[in-house]
Amino acid sequence: MPDACDAIVVGSGPNGLAAAITLARAGCSVLVYEANATIGGGARSAELTLPGFLHDVCSAVHPLAAGSPFFKTLPLERFGLQWIEPEIPLAHPLDDGSAACLCKDINVTAEQLHEDSDAYRRLMKPLACNWENLSMEFLQPMLHWPQHPITLAHFGILGLCPATLLAKFVFKSEPARALFAGIAAHSFLPLEAPVSSAFALVLGLAGHAVGWPIPRGGSQQISNALAGYLRELGGKIEVNRRIENLRDLPKSRAILLDVSVWEFLRIAGQEMPSRYRRRLESFRHAPGIFKIDYALSEPIPWKAKACRQAGTIHLGGAIDEIAAAEREVARGKIPERPFVLVAQQSLFDETRAPRGQHTLWAYCHVPVSCGTDMSDQIESQIERFAPGFRDCILARRKMSATDLGKSNSNLTGGDISGGATDLMQLVRRPVLSPTPYRTPIKGVYLCSSSTPPGGGVHGMCGYHAARFALREIFGKR
Ligand SMILES: Cc1cc2nc3c(=O)[nH]c(=O)nc-3n(C[C@H](O)[C@H](O)[C@H](O)COP(=O)(O)OP(=O)(O)OC[C@H]3O[C@@H](n4cnc5c(N)ncnc54)[C@H](O)[C@@H]3O)c2cc1C
Repeated sequence: MPDACDAIVVGSGPNGLAAAITLARAGCSVLVYEANATIGGGARSAELTLPGFLHDVCSAVHPLAAGSPFFKTLPLERFGLQWIEPEIPLAHPLDDGSAACLCKDINVTAEQLHEDSDAYRRLMKPLACNWENLSMEFLQPMLHWPQHPITLAHFGILGLCPATLLAKFVFKSEPARALFAGIAAHSFLPLEAPVSSAFALVLGLAGHAVGWPIPRGGSQQISNALAGYLRELGGKIEVNRRIENLRDLPKSRAILLDVSVWEFLRIAGQEMPSRYRRRLESFRHAPGIFKIDYALSEPIPWKAKACRQAGTIHLGGAIDEIAAAEREVARGKIPERPFVLVAQQSLFDETRAPRGQHTLWAYCHVPVSCGTDMSDQIESQIERFAPGFRDCILARRKMSATDLGKSNSNLTGGDISGGATDLMQLVRRPVLSPTPYRTPIKGVYLCSSSTPPGGGVHGMCGYHAARFALREIFGKR
């Protein structure tokens, strides 16, 4: 029987679509199967609260998509993707009513950090000058021959440090330390853990290179643009097609799985040699998240003026408070004052809410598989920096860590990173190998965020996995 197509991709998240495009561009016929009724996985938007309020179901803010070396090669604007850069990418309010900000311009960021201006410039400028080379180096498997060893070594020495150590060594004042700690907390690691600084450096540098932009019309537009281009290349997508077992797939030369390690074990565990299966079974989850979306009658009444001009807000106060909250989560406990990430897309994108009204996207970290409702703790943190916030709420939609797992099988336990991103799991993602995408099952590759370089909307896991498949199966460079 002839093959149904050259390659099948399971999952239409950013990595699945990136893999499909890479294959289709090389001349392969590609078919994508998606379990959900809508494409996009972690990059989707929907009316989650009230009619006319468009919310980002998962990802909201996209420094990694805008800076993705692969996405940059695609004609996504032609398929409707339009980036909006908020005036201030990120603001971090403090209890005295002020806020530390990450601005696109390094000098502007440095100036508002007052006594830490020079320290900020010394830390970020040399790395920012080499952003293009650096981003190529760390957006691929850790085990590779570096093309820019000196730049990478400079980054590596700083990035390996625990965030609390680096922030307290480099900066003298609370605003700069808190700003750095808040960005480092995107790692889901305790801030005393090695490599937590790497996340602060990468996201901070991306902010200086491309901003922290949002797509007009919601993150669904990223997926729609990727899918539009894939279809132009001849690729096909079928939704409402959950793959329960690898054996159910029609014949093809290559299979690329945009599924987490745990979903891979579920649908193909029986096919794997037991040694490989045990290695996957020892892969650990990151903590989970509790997410909440709001429809608001007016903009959030932030005390700090900068927060009213910022796309993203980090709520957690001082560095020691953020570190304590993240430590609690890592120990499997619920923090009383969690670190909260907030995005206020409708301030910059009129397509998100009826005129004069607004949306708000927020989440906090919780232990993996935690079913606790964190809305009180999240709202208390917002009220702390924006008194009167609760009076603006028209409607809210909550998603616990366990709910998230039910909505997308890649988010088991509310883990949005495809597995913990500590030093060990950055090196072995999901197994220690220079070809981590290849599996022992013939023709089957893993291409989700459980592979390098890990979580975020950037498509680089899919791109690299497809490049391996093209070389190994189709003999194409
Ligand atoms: C609440 C939340 C907020 C986030 N915020 C941001 C952010 O602001 N910025 C950012 O860059 N990243 C963010 N992320 C992370 C980002 O969404 C993910 O890292 C990214 O989507 C991972 O892409 P992926 O293609 O690997 O997997 P996914 O996007 O999860 O896509 C996997 C797809 O595969 C499908 N699938 C799984 N199993 C099967 C099966 N057996 N059969 C068929 N289909 C299957 C799923 O339905 C899904 O559509 C966030 C994630 C969440 C959940």
